[in-house]
Amino acid sequence: MNRGSLTVISGFSGAGKGTLMKALLEKYGNYVLSVSCTTRQPREGEQDGREYFFISQEEFDRRVRQDEFLEYAGYVNHSYGTPKAYVQDMIEQGKDVLLEIEVQGAAIVREKCPDAILVFVTTPDAQVLYDRLTGRGTETAEVVRNRLCQAAREINEISKYDALIINDELDRAVEQIHQTIQTAKYAPARKKDFLQTFHAELEEINRRLADA
Ligand code: 5GP
Repeated sequence: MNRGSLTVISGFSGAGKGTLMKALLEKYGNYVLSVSCTTRQPREGEQDGREYFFISQEEFDRRVRQDEFLEYAGYVNHSYGTPKAYVQDMIEQGKDVLLEIEVQGAAIVREKCPDAILVFVTTPDAQVLYDRLTGRGTETAEVVRNRLCQAAREINEISKYDALIINDELDRAVEQIHQTIQTAKYAPARKKDFLQTFHAELEEINRRLADA
């Protein structure tokens, strides 16, 4: 069985990553989304085990000590982490795994998994970002301010990503993410196992031909 791929999707809070991921999962069958652990409170409509596993800081720290996270990071006063076992299992099963995580976590994934594909999602401009964050109606003015300051810090990290997706039109952005992942997956540098096996097979055939 071919191993699946690992893609990190980061983006400004309010850029519409969640909606994009949902649409991508609905449109194409081979993607799975890893559900992270967080110490923040659920927002209205969020369900434990669906958007996140909502856990206490003590439980989070215990999982860090047990080395249960592929990566983890602090983001605007809370901790977020990616459960390692699920990601590994799904990749082994040939799935294209999506991690919706912020930039510090993305840098750790890149270090630990050099084959990971990194995609960054943004709104067409900063005003649209502000409008989306305030339009949600779920965040206080302070949280919105924090998230916009965070966005300003994240700008510097974007050059480390493989692709920038401008989320102005949902269907187009979904297609662009899908194409980015499927193209990157077959980059020769990510297909070392395939090329090694092919090489070994060629050598074997060449030996047989030489002996004939
Ligand atoms: P939110 O609280 O709005 O759901 O997420 C805040 C930020 O945390 C987002 O940028 C989201 O992508 C990121 N995030 C969610 N889960 C994880 C995780 O497991 N690890 C890291 N590093 N970031 C995460």
